Amino acid sequence: MRITRITAWKLDLPLREPYWLSGGRLKFETLDSTFVRIDTDEGVSGWGEGCPWGHTYLPAHGPGIRAALEILAPALIGLDPRSVDAFNRAMDVTLPGHNYAKSPLDIACWDILGKVTGLSLWQLFGASSAAPVPVNSSISTGTADQMCAAIASASENGYRWHSAKIGGTDAAADLARMEAISAALPPNETLTFDINRAWLPAVAIHVLNSTALRNRIEQPCQTIEQCAHVAGRVPQPIILDECLHTFQDHLNAYRMTACEGIKVKPNRVGGLTKARQIRDFGLSVGWQMHVEDTGGTALADTAAIHLAASTPQHNRLASWLCHYHLAVDPLPEQGARNEGGYATPPKMPGLGVQPDMAFLGQPCNIWE
Ligand code: MG
Repeated sequence: MRITRITAWKLDLPLREPYWLSGGRLKFETLDSTFVRIDTDEGVSGWGEGCPWGHTYLPAHGPGIRAALEILAPALIGLDPRSVDAFNRAMDVTLPGHNYAKSPLDIACWDILGKVTGLSLWQLFGASSAAPVPVNSSISTGTADQMCAAIASASENGYRWHSAKIGGTDAAADLARMEAISAALPPNETLTFDINRAWLPAVAIHVLNSTALRNRIEQPCQTIEQCAHVAGRVPQPIILDECLHTFQDHLNAYRMTACEGIKVKPNRVGGLTKARQIRDFGLSVGWQMHVEDTGGTALADTAAIHLAASTPQHNRLASWLCHYHLAVDPLPEQGARNEGGYATPPKMPGLGVQPDMAFLGQPCNIWE
């Protein structure tokens, strides 16, 4: 089997409501997504999506994916997409780094591998069943009242896990907001405070030692070193997210005892191949893991849910589904969706989703 054509589409994905990250310093209204289809000489095609969470959240941006495709795609024509490791090595030789830009291509290869073997991705990743994965809400930063209302709304929609974005320059205000949100949390629901790097280590250590709350705290500071400094001086479990881009970053985080768990995001680390390696490392060192993506439609969400569903329940935390924040849906009623607080991966071969071609419109580029 050989790759004969790679096609890319640019999609502007408007959010239902503007979203503010912790500190209120990053506001998003539209996501820039790239859909990729890989066609083969045997008539089997695979789909992938790359979608950073805005241009300023990570060192990744939508146009960067399409610029990288200009370099990568010509070098991948003729390769066997079923050989996912060899395919990834070819991408890494052609364009070192820029892992986020490689993710949609890698996901499309896994889709093809699933289709030709007749197996769903959760099966290829080693699971024995399509396990329902708990989903978590993502609560935009705001006043305590605004955030409590957003959590109550998510709870009505079945969510039992919530990720509240807090963190700013006023430590006392952050502390008050954490206490208020926690006090208003419906019974038997789980809450993480996601700081999105907004605190300096001194602020994190002060705030987290000034409360009796023991919620998980996500990415309190900018770097692995700063988070490791904090992790050794606070009683709450630390989850890392934005500072992890490569396998080496995860190894460094483990060596520095910087966290009790991580976010595994295929679109941040380079696709399902690298995300699975990281997930398996996390299993071996006893981490708790949220497996989800950086953003995008139900296509990217479904790819991540396949990996989440194949992660042992003991190590698995809830997964965020970005597509619920979007005002558009290029895959109506397909893929992993929130059903009573859980998302289940499709049982069809491959990813199990097929984008609406009318929605995609004209491609932005074709390589063959
Ligand atoms: Mg996060």
